Amino acid sequence: MRIGFGYDVHALAEGLPLVLGGVRLDSPIGCVAHSDGDVAIHALCDALLGAIAAGDIGAHFPDTDPAYKGIDSTLLLRRTVELLHERGYKVGNVDITIALERPKLRPHIDSMRARLAECMATEVDNVSVKATTTEKLGFTGRSEGVAAYAVALIESI
Ligand code: MG
Repeated sequence: MRIGFGYDVHALAEGLPLVLGGVRLDSPIGCVAHSDGDVAIHALCDALLGAIAAGDIGAHFPDTDPAYKGIDSTLLLRRTVELLHERGYKVGNVDITIALERPKLRPHIDSMRARLAECMATEVDNVSVKATTTEKLGFTGRSEGVAAYAVALIESI
């Protein structure tokens, strides 16, 4: 077994889409990003890549590459899991925390878990998604940005 950790932040702005954990949310503010700005998936990819010591998401999917402009981050997650499989590992379990002031994420948590599990070819039971506000403190508290943290345990196939 091996373990990895990931962290990601995106700025929020009015009128942009908000996609988290592979789920499009109804929100007046969304992520400023080269891709679809799914911080939860980006942190998760970094955790999985970290577990195989394969660098970070920016090295594999550079934000300077026009091929990744506006890309659906679930494709990046699928590609990351393929890489894991090529190295002889599968997802054990993952745990993600998203820090965001609004909108409330609780109603969407199970949809995110199901979507992420499907992308990683694992059971929903292996995927935890949690949400927290930061009590109106800092950039997340002021809704200037959204942050996500992820840990991933992987197992040899
Ligand atoms: Mg990102």
